[in-house]
Amino acid sequence: MNYISTRGQAPDLAFNDVLLTGLARDGGLYVPQVWPQLSHADLNALKGLPYAEAAAKILQPFMDGISHDELLAITEATYEIFPDPAVAPLRQLSEGHWLLELFHGPTLAFKDMAMQLLGRLFDRELARRKQRITIIGATSGDTGSAAIEACRDRDAIDIFILHPQGRVSEVQRRQMTTVLADNVHNIAIEGTFDDCQALLKGAFNDLPFRDEVALSAVNSINWARVVAQVVYYVTAALAAGAPDRKVSFAVPTGNFGCVFAGYGAAMMGLPIDKLLVATNRNDILHRFFQTGGYRMDDVFATQSPSMDIQVASNFERLLFDIDGRDGAVVREQMAALTAHGGFDVAPAALKQAHELFLSHRVDEAATTATIAEVYAESGLIIDPHTAVGLRAARDLLPQGPVITLATAHPAKFPDAVEKACGQRPALPAAMGDLYEREERCAVLPNDLGVLQDHVRKLRRA
Ligand SMILES: *Cc1c(COP(=O)(O)O)cnc(C)c1O
Repeated sequence: MNYISTRGQAPDLAFNDVLLTGLARDGGLYVPQVWPQLSHADLNALKGLPYAEAAAKILQPFMDGISHDELLAITEATYEIFPDPAVAPLRQLSEGHWLLELFHGPTLAFKDMAMQLLGRLFDRELARRKQRITIIGATSGDTGSAAIEACRDRDAIDIFILHPQGRVSEVQRRQMTTVLADNVHNIAIEGTFDDCQALLKGAFNDLPFRDEVALSAVNSINWARVVAQVVYYVTAALAAGAPDRKVSFAVPTGNFGCVFAGYGAAMMGLPIDKLLVATNRNDILHRFFQTGGYRMDDVFATQSPSMDIQVASNFERLLFDIDGRDGAVVREQMAALTAHGGFDVAPAALKQAHELFLSHRVDEAATTATIAEVYAESGLIIDPHTAVGLRAARDLLPQGPVITLATAHPAKFPDAVEKACGQRPALPAAMGDLYEREERCAVLPNDLGVLQDHVRKLRRA
């Protein structure tokens, strides 16, 4: 199966090329030409399988060029490092309500679920091609550490992660800067997360530079990351009674990567009733689902910083589908976003989106109150991102069945959690000495040329 660009002007590519390419050369994102289908019988056959086996079966049709045995070996190596035998355990909160715990990986956020697989897929493909790549990533906190953990010490990869200086939490920064591997380069940019993302885009759009350093991406524009997340929607829905009944998912959303994977699962035939897009105060997506208008606003700092995003890069993948898969329409919309700060979709497109999507905005006070509420009910401590999702589930889908994605371990955000429920969550034992470890990080101005020189100098040719 081939992949096509949402902007219709880049060549169709096979999976392994999409994996290494990241952003399409026309500025678009790659999506599958057709969604592989899972029948009722296929879904039943996945029930009860170990996570790695289910992953290999679900991902196989997306990954031409990798044999089933090879893929199974990769998913087994990926998911055996997760300490919980279920990998992503489903925890029942009350009748019809569950939490899907996606934070048991090495950096304590759900991004490990896909990133650990991505690192291994890169390794396999680069060894096969005898090639090397340079990864540049931008992070508002969780992506960077997950990417560094997935790529550290890999011979064919040099990884540079940009974070906004002074704007990530101390746990998040230390999870990145204390990895002292030769191929890992942390850069604190004198600017905001949006500046970091703009530098990354600038590096990709400088095609000579892109080719010179064999640039590749680990942000959720990389298709392999999105597709890896389809797996846990399937396994969780099956554990909650699918395919014999429909379930909904409440998804704390920033860049629209995680919830787009839920959309993919639905397109493959998983019986999903609703996908509930839960945003914090940075609510461009909520406003879109309310009005059909997609308009940038200022970015506000919240307790759930991994969702403090205005332009949700993966949203373009959904737009492409609701625009009738017409790359010319997407190009116009993206041009309007740049030139005028926003655009409106056609009424029919919004109607199509509403068949599956609901949305809700959860403010800071409600986030805090939800952490306190859950602690008082059950003694369970949840993180602020999870709280945004759970508040949305309880407000909009009180009857269920609904699964809220628990996207981070509470110890990643100890200040917000302590303020809400009076408990300071401890880091897991393996990370107990994080505050004593040595850090390494360069500080650079918000300047593409300076960044490019830095990358040229430090990458191992
Ligand atoms: C990245 C992240 C999100 C948002 O996921 P998207 O795929 O960007 O929508 C939510 N919660 C946590 C903890 C995250 O790290």
